[in-house]
Amino acid sequence: MFDYDLMIIGAGVGGHGAALHGVAQGLKTAIVEASDMGGTCVNRGCIPSKALLAAAGRVRELKAKSHLQALGITVGEVNFDREQIARHAATTVAKLRDDLSHSLQRLGVDVIQGRGKIAGVQKVQVNDRVYSAKDVIIATGSKPFVPPGITLDGKTVFTSDEGIRLDWLPQWIAIIGSGYIGLEFSDIYTALGCEITMIEALDQLMPGFDPDIAKLAERVLIKPRDIETYRGVLAKKVTPGSPVTIELGNGEVLEVDACLVATGRVPLSQDLGLETVGLSPNKRGFIEVDDRMATGVDHLWAIGDVTGKMMLAHAAAAQGVTVVENICGRNRSVDYLSIPAAAFTHPEIGFVGLTEPQAQEKAQAEGFTIGVGRSYFKGNSKAIAEGETDGLAKIIYRQDDRTLLGVHIFGLHASDLIQEAAQAIASRATVDQLAFCVHAHPTLSEVLDEAYKSIMRAN
Ligand SMILES: Cc1cc2nc3c(=O)[nH]c(=O)nc-3n(C[C@H](O)[C@H](O)[C@H](O)COP(=O)(O)OP(=O)(O)OC[C@H]3O[C@@H](n4cnc5c(N)ncnc54)[C@H](O)[C@@H]3O)c2cc1C
Repeated sequence: MFDYDLMIIGAGVGGHGAALHGVAQGLKTAIVEASDMGGTCVNRGCIPSKALLAAAGRVRELKAKSHLQALGITVGEVNFDREQIARHAATTVAKLRDDLSHSLQRLGVDVIQGRGKIAGVQKVQVNDRVYSAKDVIIATGSKPFVPPGITLDGKTVFTSDEGIRLDWLPQWIAIIGSGYIGLEFSDIYTALGCEITMIEALDQLMPGFDPDIAKLAERVLIKPRDIETYRGVLAKKVTPGSPVTIELGNGEVLEVDACLVATGRVPLSQDLGLETVGLSPNKRGFIEVDDRMATGVDHLWAIGDVTGKMMLAHAAAAQGVTVVENICGRNRSVDYLSIPAAAFTHPEIGFVGLTEPQAQEKAQAEGFTIGVGRSYFKGNSKAIAEGETDGLAKIIYRQDDRTLLGVHIFGLHASDLIQEAAQAIASRATVDQLAFCVHAHPTLSEVLDEAYKSIMRAN
């Protein structure tokens, strides 16, 4: 009696994950997309930024003459072609966008091009047609947040949406915001020879990261590079042009060649017809959901950035799978504690679970104490062999049941290393159980092995 069992509004990574799992469960599924298949991650986020970071990382490595000489390697002049780096990012995007579209078509998901809107309970309007669906998922994602006072022109003052195109390399660029997007772009721009002024409104750089990691990352990723920093300072007014002018809260005026605004993202929850089912977004525009991703309106679910729960691609996909499981009658919720995150700087940052201040807060509220164990890349044989010894693995655990609360890694391949810790948290393993898991030698993963063992030895 319904046109579809499942209709998904938004074909980003979240919508895609839900659609694939939906058809796998035998649900007649349609996905509605107003713009580019693949959404932010594929077109303007994870994928192009990582393609740029791959090229910029190689340039940085080849220019690190003393590091290479220590390995017995001499290189001549290192040149790069900005246009080709940008093309590499663009072709990677095109390939992954095609792969994503084909995977949906191959599996029998109906792709409907157009803007989707809720048109009542179990109804979705696209263009002039209203479809009925037993269950509906809103997966409309987010867009860059631009604070008041900042004017974009897309050329000299821009967000990551334009930054990932690498249209030009400004000699001097201001980056507003020191979250992971600002950090990744600073990694790209400094490797390619740009000077940076990083402006952070809060008193601490990289405020979302564990303080120990932020401190070490600042020592390695910021201080030795061409990056000047302002912290606790607001960029009050930014005017595009040549030069771009930036009026700071402390009265200073900067003149730079370009400005990247990386001040977070806001949900795309407007004009979605939510009022037709009596739903309204919260004050910040996010659609509120419980851990099963239910909105509170029967048969209406929301996933991904639009919920503001954890604005990461794999979190969105996991939420999509969770919805389908619940639709199929298998009660499932998302375990946010075990979802890892990474910044793909050189070296990388990987983390999962709580930061130390968050863990302290939880411990105080719930009446337990936490323990912290650390190990360093400079004591790891593989890191020493690689000549890449900057790094730290930090483990935060409960003293009572000895399960992990958070793991934070800064160092070579941290984005891959963190997965083991995510699995450990997902299975609620104890540090003592983990200390008996054998790690291959010599590998970077022994950094975690050593951290677990040091905790076990200390108690
Ligand atoms: C520069 C950058 C780098 C990033 N790097 C990473 C990373 O390395 N790892 C990571 O995990 N995350 C990363 N992210 C975050 C990640 O991209 C997002 O968390 C993820 O894309 C969210 O997925 P989503 O499905 O919720 O939304 P989106 O990917 O934003 O997709 C939503 C889709 O819905 C469509 N849509 C919106 N409204 C409608 C409508 N009414 N009708 C039809 N369609 C509609 C949009 O066009 C869009 O295609 C990055 C983001 C940025 C900006």
